[in-house]
Amino acid sequence: MTTAGPQPGQPVVFRNATVLTMDDSRTVLTGADVLTDGERIAAVGPNLAVPEGTAEIDATGGIVMPGMIDTHRHMWQTAMRGYGADWTLTQYFVYYYLTWGKKFRPEDYYAGNLLSAIEAIDAGVTTSVDWSHGLQTTEYADAAVDALEAVPGRFVLAYGNIHQGAWEWATTPEFRDFYDRRIQGKGDMLGFQIAFDLPGVEGFPEKAAFDVARDLGVAVTTHAGVFNVTSDVGINQMYDGGYMVPGTIYVHAATLSADSYHKIAATGGFASISTESECNAGQGYSPTWKLRRYGIPVSLSMDTSVWWSGDLFSAMRATLNADRAMEHFEAHASGAGVTNHILRAEDVVDYATRGGAKALGLDSVVGSVEAGKKADLVLIKNDNSPVSFPVLQPYGHVVFQAGRGDVHTVLVNGKVVKYDHKLVGVDLDHAKSAIESTIEYLKAEHGPEEWDKGMHPEIPEHETLANPYTYREDVSAWKESE
Ligand SMILES: [Zn+2]
Repeated sequence: MTTAGPQPGQPVVFRNATVLTMDDSRTVLTGADVLTDGERIAAVGPNLAVPEGTAEIDATGGIVMPGMIDTHRHMWQTAMRGYGADWTLTQYFVYYYLTWGKKFRPEDYYAGNLLSAIEAIDAGVTTSVDWSHGLQTTEYADAAVDALEAVPGRFVLAYGNIHQGAWEWATTPEFRDFYDRRIQGKGDMLGFQIAFDLPGVEGFPEKAAFDVARDLGVAVTTHAGVFNVTSDVGINQMYDGGYMVPGTIYVHAATLSADSYHKIAATGGFASISTESECNAGQGYSPTWKLRRYGIPVSLSMDTSVWWSGDLFSAMRATLNADRAMEHFEAHASGAGVTNHILRAEDVVDYATRGGAKALGLDSVVGSVEAGKKADLVLIKNDNSPVSFPVLQPYGHVVFQAGRGDVHTVLVNGKVVKYDHKLVGVDLDHAKSAIESTIEYLKAEHGPEEWDKGMHPEIPEHETLANPYTYREDVSAWKESE
């Protein structure tokens, strides 16, 4: 069907889809329809009778699944997409925390957030947590929210400021005023968290920020278990203070002790795992293989597009890879082989959908394709692609075969925001010009040399092993030409 597509206010029905409901039984339906009514899913099942005037979307050969949920993304950094592809965590810290991060202006936060928000809905990520950790003043926070509100996605602003202690900024009247002005009353379209880390400062001054979160009834999200940065000390401060409460999000959670993992599980915490990040930057080995042993619920995130992709197909794939790689690695070390995998494709699809909804306290709202929930839906279908068939194992298809280019239609809160592979009601040109101004400004601030240096960190000395065999002449000639 290549008509103009569904019109605003029209109910939508997906016809003849494979539906990954992600309900409690993980029901998979084939040849099924999904009908929306206003903001909600009205019905799921075969051959649905629909009201007159319903827009029909032929989902034959496609997969309908819940909109994906990213629980930790530094959206402002999308302004510098790909710049830090070769960084380690140290270079990231030096760049954003110690040198150039402070140069970002409110309009640069706006630009980065705007592009990141558009990118999210385009990729079928219908809910994103904007882990916005450089909000030097509430003017920055206003700019961040302006961008989020310009895009028809579901967002959670995780308010943070790495340039001050959390106990300083979270306790100001300006912060409270911002919350009252911009967040309160926005319901499930714009949530709020308080975002800060616990490097183990003596005296636990972060207590004041936890008290603000408790007072507002919002969750705290924190980079925990990051090698050489945050450790069990911070977890113990939280635990002893009584601040490990249900709904707290522990980002990365890669290098904690058994005791800390038990505490997270026992207090109703959630992990946000950014496998591309953990594998590249060095927070610690992506920990789902550990977390599932402790029974810690997992959600997924992309962290930042200054390095990585911003879509959850990559996150699902990377997470399954890392978990299984560790299973094999551990088994081989003891001389055994792995015959059956524990973590399945359907588990990482759950992490990317329902897992995120649970972590954000939105499980009654989104995260599954069930009547009554808000209609945050994704249709994966790309008839012109050789990868679109056969669809035999739909979870496996989503994780290892599909990609963002296969996202055909996206609904957020019942509204069609992408149809037939094209965004609807989104001003990409505006985002492009905002990004161009930001890049122009940042380049001028750096100067050409610094700009280039930031992008190309040094390669450490490394050796190729001496080979006990004599190289063949033609191989030697080829190696010398390298
Ligand atoms: Zn992060």
